[in-house]
Amino acid sequence: MIATTVHQELVELTGGRVRFDEPMRLHTSFHIGGPAEAWVEPQGLEELRALLAVAASAEMPVTPIGAGANLLVRDGGIPGLVVSLNTPAFRRLLVDGETLTAGAGVGLDRVVAAAREAGLGGCEFLAGIPGKVGGAVRMNAGTRDGQGGFRAMSDVVARVTVVRRDGTVAATPAAEIGFEYRRAALNGDLVVEAVLQLAPRPPEEIGQRVTALMAYKRATQDLTAPSAGCIFKNPGGGRPAAGRLIDQAGLKGMRVGDAIISPRHANFIVNLGEATAGDVLALISAVQYKVMQEHGVFLELEVQVMPQ
Ligand SMILES: Cc1cc2nc3c(=O)[nH]c(=O)nc-3n(C[C@H](O)[C@H](O)[C@H](O)COP(=O)(O)OP(=O)(O)OC[C@H]3O[C@@H](n4cnc5c(N)ncnc54)[C@H](O)[C@@H]3O)c2cc1C
Repeated sequence: MIATTVHQELVELTGGRVRFDEPMRLHTSFHIGGPAEAWVEPQGLEELRALLAVAASAEMPVTPIGAGANLLVRDGGIPGLVVSLNTPAFRRLLVDGETLTAGAGVGLDRVVAAAREAGLGGCEFLAGIPGKVGGAVRMNAGTRDGQGGFRAMSDVVARVTVVRRDGTVAATPAAEIGFEYRRAALNGDLVVEAVLQLAPRPPEEIGQRVTALMAYKRATQDLTAPSAGCIFKNPGGGRPAAGRLIDQAGLKGMRVGDAIISPRHANFIVNLGEATAGDVLALISAVQYKVMQEHGVFLELEVQVMPQ
């Protein structure tokens, strides 16, 4: 529980904008999640740094959130500060030559649109991935590139500006970030901005690629039902994709409470309405058990369970 003095400090620092016990189901694409102890939307870098200082001195955990499109928030909620950078100060977008600089709160759809308008290709793969730039860097978001290959943020990010927990700001070249499959080793740093290195490409060609990618996604995924996208990482090593393994284990349509394995895409779990995080976690365990039994493969989570 937040001490009264810290409570007061947060109220003063944010000019009363802090929200206590904010339901996280309002901020996740799954529409699931208990309350954030304190939800803050800093209006600029200085406010963010001041909030981090309060959290550090009160020894409160800090959780950054983007669009909440890859999250499973537990029913008990998230202790400490939950920081959303979805504010104008972190939604700046600038195209300069062949680089595109975007704040952490910029939506990926806006990145794709701005790049297309500027005749810059390379980030079309982000089309249809719900999320913000900060979350996409952290998750090293990626997918098929529409050309028979795969592409992820690590292929286009040149530099990331982060704020560390001690409030220092650092511009880190991509090579030092430690990108892996669906992960960037940020060590708790908060992404505030990313610079993407793109290449000239005719807007019509970009448009065609985006259209093809969107058509593929619409045909294969549940894009409108509440979900967090793919629940499990693909196991790699030449093994079939997680969705295929789940499908082959006969688990499409399996249901716990209001959580169901999507009949369209076996790596999606969909919230039929009133699913709890407990329902989803029970379904996840059942899938992991059955896939291990059937295929001898342990499916690791791609979705971020909060708190861990
Ligand atoms: C229908 C659907 C389809 C999807 N398709 C794809 C796909 O094709 N490819 C793919 O890769 N993903 C996909 N996803 C998952 C999701 O869109 C991506 O992981 C996306 O990058 C999440 O971004 P976000 O802003 O919502 O991050 P969140 O879900 O809010 O957060 C994800 C993680 O990033 C951290 N984080 C958020 N912001 C910051 C920040 N500023 N600094 C540091 N850490 C931060 C969070 O703490 C959390 O650990 C899909 C999801 C859905 C619902």
